[in-house]
Amino acid sequence: MPKPAILWLRRDLRLADHPALTALCASGRPVIPVFILDDVAAGYGAAPRFRLGLAIKALATDLEAAGSRLILRRGPALEVLRNLIAETGADTVHWTRLYEEDSVTRDTRVKTALKEAGLEARSHPGHVLFEPPSVETGTGGPYRVYSPFWKAVRTREVAAPLPAPGRIPAPDSWPESERLEDWHLGANMRRGAEVVAAHAVVGEAAAQDRLGTFLDTKVADYKAQRDRFDRDVCSGLSENLAWGEISPAALWHGGQRAMEEGKAGAEHFLKEVVWRDFAYHLAFHTPHLTRDNWREGWDAFPWATDEEAPEVVAWKQGRTGIETVDAAMREMYVTGSMHNRGRMLVASYLTKHLMTHWKIGMDWFADCLTDWDPASNAMGWQWVAGSGPDAAPYFRIFNPDTQAEKFDPNGHYRNRWIAERRASPTATALSYFEAVPKSWTLSPKAPYPAPVVSLPEGRARALSAYEARSF
Ligand code: FAD
Repeated sequence: MPKPAILWLRRDLRLADHPALTALCASGRPVIPVFILDDVAAGYGAAPRFRLGLAIKALATDLEAAGSRLILRRGPALEVLRNLIAETGADTVHWTRLYEEDSVTRDTRVKTALKEAGLEARSHPGHVLFEPPSVETGTGGPYRVYSPFWKAVRTREVAAPLPAPGRIPAPDSWPESERLEDWHLGANMRRGAEVVAAHAVVGEAAAQDRLGTFLDTKVADYKAQRDRFDRDVCSGLSENLAWGEISPAALWHGGQRAMEEGKAGAEHFLKEVVWRDFAYHLAFHTPHLTRDNWREGWDAFPWATDEEAPEVVAWKQGRTGIETVDAAMREMYVTGSMHNRGRMLVASYLTKHLMTHWKIGMDWFADCLTDWDPASNAMGWQWVAGSGPDAAPYFRIFNPDTQAEKFDPNGHYRNRWIAERRASPTATALSYFEAVPKSWTLSPKAPYPAPVVSLPEGRARALSAYEARSF
């Protein structure tokens, strides 16, 4: 019997198109899949932790159907891996590469230590389409602007998705596993867990179905309609990509097929999928993306940094008095997701009308999004704030009213998420009050607030702060 191999799973919770799993199955060794609740995973915000728990549960079921198991262990990754190696006699550990700073630091340490101990430690692709070091400008550096990045990758070959292994070789005896229930991954969601769970589309099969439905029924209109808050034309796949329930290559090849079939929005869909890759390209080459102003000159900008300021609390609670902003914030609290245009709008309102630091918004999203992605979230926030790469001109301030006229002309989106001022509030709007902590003391019967900062006042204040600075 060959020695077992450990498959260390992180944000790759699937069986299909999983190069590390495929390589191990091909080696003929017994495979021991493990998920480790280490400092990185334990540090996720409330909604990502909760969603991670759902993904782990679904993967464990899929692994069992393939004759395998998912071993759960808590603790520092290296220590857990060393213990598992000692317990099982495994002499190799494989995983899928990640590219943001915390993961890179941890993985480098693990790889070095395992190799020093004479063990095999191998990482594989699969988290992005184009691995960050593989895309270089003509002069050899990383890209800093999206359009040339897109041009550089658009005609590249992406390997066809690998099939899921039918049966995964199992060891003679399994090491002990902790129980998922004992990790209490949903605890910080409090009563929001049940409400958000109803909107989650969990697991590999569901993700594949979601992609199929999108390609069959939505992608054709995607380019023309994707900015409409009130329409359901986006894929929703960020939730599944975040946990690796589907591979980006599956989206890429699906999109390519749709293009060949002449579906108009398909190329635009591919472009959006590549924005995710671009975020990882930036996070890998300029790791400060996720923690500091990416662009020089912004450190002295007078962002407000008081998280408890009444207007920031109002923003978090969807009570700014600006309906489109509040609708989007409530959508996120209830569904764990938010329309892309909503994300841009609420980020603009926080960083510009409220002059509040983008990090406060980024952290709140990291606590509330089930599709939380460290690279896309940081890039999105810095893009809107103006401090990031490829940023929108910093003096461009979204007007939520104009945006609503264009992208929610009949008010359907606002009606879906705002209960106050409505004679018959929708069930989705009311569900917000079921999801939020009772300590917020919110009620759909309370009057809707006046704007915490009016649109003209906020705009004028931000513009004068920009004028006072030389960028
Ligand atoms: P679709 O429109 O169907 O697009 C398909 C896929 O392309 C998405 O699933 C996503 O992987 C990728 N994509 C699309 N738009 C973007 C984009 N602007 N940036 C990067 N990738 C993109 N995305 C996350 O996955 N996690 C986050 O934490 C996140 N935070 C964001 C914060 C802000 C302030 C902003 C402005 C954007 C953020 N985004 C984030 C990007 C984007 O809003 C979401 O990826 C998108 O709304 C997900 O919906 P969808 O899957 O239906 O996307």
